Amino acid sequence: MTRKKIVAGNWKMNKNLFEGKQLVSDILESGLELRDDQEVIIAPPFTSLELAASQLKDSKNIFLAAQNCHQEASGAYTGEISAEMLKGLGVRYVILGHSERRQYFGEGDALLAQKTDIVLKNGMKVIFCCGEPLQIREAGTQNTYIQTQIEQGLFHLTEAEFKNIVIAYEPIWAIGTGLTASDEQAQEMHAHIRSLVAAKYGDAIAEATSILYGGSCKPSNAAGLFSCPDVDGGLIGGAALVAQDFVGIIKAR
Ligand code: PEP
Repeated sequence: MTRKKIVAGNWKMNKNLFEGKQLVSDILESGLELRDDQEVIIAPPFTSLELAASQLKDSKNIFLAAQNCHQEASGAYTGEISAEMLKGLGVRYVILGHSERRQYFGEGDALLAQKTDIVLKNGMKVIFCCGEPLQIREAGTQNTYIQTQIEQGLFHLTEAEFKNIVIAYEPIWAIGTGLTASDEQAQEMHAHIRSLVAAKYGDAIAEATSILYGGSCKPSNAAGLFSCPDVDGGLIGGAALVAQDFVGIIKAR
């Protein structure tokens, strides 16, 4: 079973319209040659989605993601963006459950389950993030912590719905800190996540599910992480803001 090998760049709240346009151009002009089983995903802020969509319209394996969306279909939610609006812009994925959304915006598992539903209902896919804080890792209880996040955020889905889920394991202690999970730590957790999916949805779906690693991934450590059998690529923060670094990580995959 070949599952998709994915490198996704989460720009977070960085890059204005002009800077974002330049970054997408630099990535497109870098001479990337992607295999059929490879996908690159770019997740700019909402303000750059439309322009990025027009820049990516002829790219075969490079897709657009949004960094969030609201859980309701429409209505009086000032300042929010709906899944339908994103779909209309040509967005293919929505990142949900990023630790910054959980931490700074109080997003919990029940809300994330609702957001997952509305994204899937609109025909897009979800990159669902999970990850433990440092004290959980130090206590050695990371496996059950991640199990709860995945069960509560995703396991209400049907098999058909779950096929549209990509999971990103992002230990919080590794995000933006320069500390990376070792290849062994990443492999161990990814295998655990895959076993959870297998127990719920069966081996075939588990084998087809892409599980990405995120947390201070850079060109220098990407090849090691990506060579782990259950690591199917990366969700990249800081290094996705520099075309050369992002492309270096993609080439490691
Ligand atoms: C992230 O925030 O998803 C992330 C992985 O960030 P960084 O690569 O900067 O650690």
